[in-house]
Amino acid sequence: MDDSVAKQDRPRANASDMHRNLMKTPAFIETIFNCLPDLVFAKDSELRIVMANDALMSLYPESMQDRIIGYTTAEEYDEEEARSFLEQDRIAFRDGAATTIESVDFPSGERKTLFTQKIRFEDQNGEAFIAGVARDITEIVSNQAALKESEERYGLAVNGSSVGIWDWDQRTGDSFYSALLRSMLGIVDPDFIPSLADFNARVHADDQKHFRARLAAHLHKREPFDLECRLKRDSGAYLWTHVRGQAEWDETGNATRMAGSVDDISDRKRAEEALQRSHEQLDQYAHIASHDLKEPLRAICNHVQLLREDLEESLEPEARQRLNRVEELTRSMTQMITDMLQSSRDINSEHYELVDMNAEAAAVIEMFADSANTTIEIAKNLATVHADPVGVRQVLHNLISNAIAYNDSDLKYIEIGQAHDVARTGVSGPVFFVRDNGIGIAPRFHQAIFRMFKRLNTKDQYRSGTGAGLAFVHKIISHHGGDVWVESEMGHGSTFYFCFNTAS
Ligand code: ADP
Repeated sequence: MDDSVAKQDRPRANASDMHRNLMKTPAFIETIFNCLPDLVFAKDSELRIVMANDALMSLYPESMQDRIIGYTTAEEYDEEEARSFLEQDRIAFRDGAATTIESVDFPSGERKTLFTQKIRFEDQNGEAFIAGVARDITEIVSNQAALKESEERYGLAVNGSSVGIWDWDQRTGDSFYSALLRSMLGIVDPDFIPSLADFNARVHADDQKHFRARLAAHLHKREPFDLECRLKRDSGAYLWTHVRGQAEWDETGNATRMAGSVDDISDRKRAEEALQRSHEQLDQYAHIASHDLKEPLRAICNHVQLLREDLEESLEPEARQRLNRVEELTRSMTQMITDMLQSSRDINSEHYELVDMNAEAAAVIEMFADSANTTIEIAKNLATVHADPVGVRQVLHNLISNAIAYNDSDLKYIEIGQAHDVARTGVSGPVFFVRDNGIGIAPRFHQAIFRMFKRLNTKDQYRSGTGAGLAFVHKIISHHGGDVWVESEMGHGSTFYFCFNTAS
């Protein structure tokens, strides 16, 4: 016989003997018995514990440990608990086995949920016992309960939400559309399987470019994914929606999951379109009305002039003054109509471009080059803004012309700059200012001056305006989503601050 074969056979025979021997070795069995984290015990037919391992013993205070072996320990437990586990013992004796999940308050004060198996066996003398193995599943049960609660909460939030919810898991390839999203998209097929490709394909062709750009910016630059786009319903009709989402990334920066919401904004869009149409109609109406209103005013002016020429010689000074006044009022009314018309000019975000504020301010102050005793300074390095350049020019022009007009100083000093420490809520992006050393404005008028035709000074005192300039400024700034406000005291000059909220 080959030597190596003999060597292989011998250990195999020995291993099986060793196994048998070890299983009969009390020290081995006791070691295993006491090392197990499960609670292991044996009970006799009187339901008294005859064996308990260290894991089980440790659940009793030391002072009680000599009253476990040989006892049922039932008196140490709540009546109901004791009745329940003794009942399981009896079932195991009767049927050979019993399995139960029970919550037990141990005398050590610990409450545990146990998965317990009890099995009947007989010793060499034929006496029946039950062996019990109880596994502590407290943590598993509480984790499952927490998971169930969180799933229930998520389900409630999804079902109760007024927005549709979508969820895409890149790792599993699974996607989810909430019931509301399905109904928004007109999906009736119960076997419909949502997917990222389905969602992308629903985006309107005209919104695709923007949608893809926003998605790429979110996934690669982590910019917010928040946009309005049209999504196709199963019927083929499109629905205006507001889509938001948030991705999750792994440590290598790859998106692993993305979830978000879809809000049906078609009602708002319809209202916006109706408003846009009515604005356009109003603009047309304003043009026609202003033309019709200016016509008779022009005629009044002409008649006044003719009257003055006809009565040149015979006109009393008082009558001449009255005629002058009629002419003046007529001109002022013509100007008010022109201003009203200008205020209806639509400031459209499609006209927005990058506007260099230094260049713009320099171009505007050129128009005031002839103003007497006036110095206008522009700070260096003013920010560039994303705005309607015509609007920016009108804002600067109005503020600078006011700063010169409402100013009694011997040397009028006007400064155009950028404020870097402005604490005003809702303001973002660069804040600019036009500061003067003029007559100032009492705080109680700081808001009123932005109202149409609101004037604080009579015509004779300062220049003859209509009180529309600051209302234009306010309107232009509001269209940009910005803010304009004044800081001033009577006699201490004024600073008009403004921002376009569109930093770039
Ligand atoms: P207008 O100059 O045609 O009267 P505005 O709307 O530009 O109309 O200004 C409204 C009023 O606010 C002015 O009549 C004036 O009383 C006051 N005001 C505007 N700017 C200044 C300023 N820089 N300093 C003092 N008062 C001002």
